[in-house]
Amino acid sequence: MSITSDAAHDSGLTGTEQAVLRALSDGRQRTVAELCTELSAARSSVVHALNSLRTAGVVAEHPSGRPARGRPARGWSVAASPGLIAVVLTAAHGVLAGVVRPDGEVLAEVHGAADFTVPAGALELLDRALAEAGVTRRQIELAVLGLPGPSMFARTAGTDSLGGSHLRRFRFWDGRPAADVVGEFLDRPVFCENDANLAALGEAVYGDVAGLHTVLHISLTHGTGAGLVIGGTLHRGGSRLAGEVGHLHVDDGGQLCECGARGCFWQTTSIPALLAELATAHGRTFTVSDLDAAAALGDLEIMRALRGFGRSFGRRVADFVVFLDPQAIIVDHTLGAASVVIADGIREAVDQYAPPMMAASVKISSGSLGASAHLKGAAALVRTEQLLDISRLGSRASV
Ligand SMILES: [Zn+2]
Repeated sequence: MSITSDAAHDSGLTGTEQAVLRALSDGRQRTVAELCTELSAARSSVVHALNSLRTAGVVAEHPSGRPARGRPARGWSVAASPGLIAVVLTAAHGVLAGVVRPDGEVLAEVHGAADFTVPAGALELLDRALAEAGVTRRQIELAVLGLPGPSMFARTAGTDSLGGSHLRRFRFWDGRPAADVVGEFLDRPVFCENDANLAALGEAVYGDVAGLHTVLHISLTHGTGAGLVIGGTLHRGGSRLAGEVGHLHVDDGGQLCECGARGCFWQTTSIPALLAELATAHGRTFTVSDLDAAAALGDLEIMRALRGFGRSFGRRVADFVVFLDPQAIIVDHTLGAASVVIADGIREAVDQYAPPMMAASVKISSGSLGASAHLKGAAALVRTEQLLDISRLGSRASV
């Protein structure tokens, strides 16, 4: 049996076998009872799948486990521990590099204002992340690259197309596709995903809202984006732009947007636009850190501006509530204390403009993971998209 990072259906695995593998691919042990609950599957089909996968050498049974009804419950896991995941995130503010386990544990998180337009800056940051995690390149199983713009995720490692000329600086480093640069550096497969999607997946799978079915995550710090997670997996949509609230139309006479439309929401309602307004009003520059600090100190003037921003944003988010009926709307936590105030403003608008029953059922809050959301999201991506080479999991020595 061999299952590569390409579509699992080519492997000949049954649906239950694929689901069991997906559940176990984080490297943790689970009992049959836990798998039945997690997969909402019948015990007989889970046991049949486990036995079949054990025969193929892909999963292993562990005799010692937690007691259940007076006798030891056997644990199951993939036969060999999956390797580590390297993550590189490039955005307008710089680069984030990290190393994360398949179960979402972050081993290293390094931020830098490196110039990512040349490979050296990002690769140096990745090297620092590996050193901080205390691991070598050989211990990395694969890499996930977070990039702005439309999701270019594909099950074929390294796939990433341009997505628009304004995105070229993020996606091409020194004239070469970023995925190729990282792939050659690590000698491992690389998968690309939209950066806001990674944060959304991280919060939805590992944050305070873990377990909720429909989660809309709003990224604000360096743009106006969003990610939609339904049933624990990303919903990208037909053009891979699902949930991009920044490109809702608000002004027929507005400026042309890089997306090709005119008068998009983000042009007037964004954190950079808010910072510019504050700078004009106060006669000095404002940064994201200033917003965080002011909100933490309870600065009434800044909090009023943030809450008003949240209400403006929430007016459009209320439409999403009607369309999607989400269980949670999360404001990214990279804004720190400011994100809590913005979430309050969104709450007010949703209560004002969405039908009361729908407004009452949606949790609206700041994220709980900060910048780690992207790294944890990469781990979740590997699991939900079945990116690990299962044939390697069955034969490799533990890391
Ligand atoms: Zn637009």
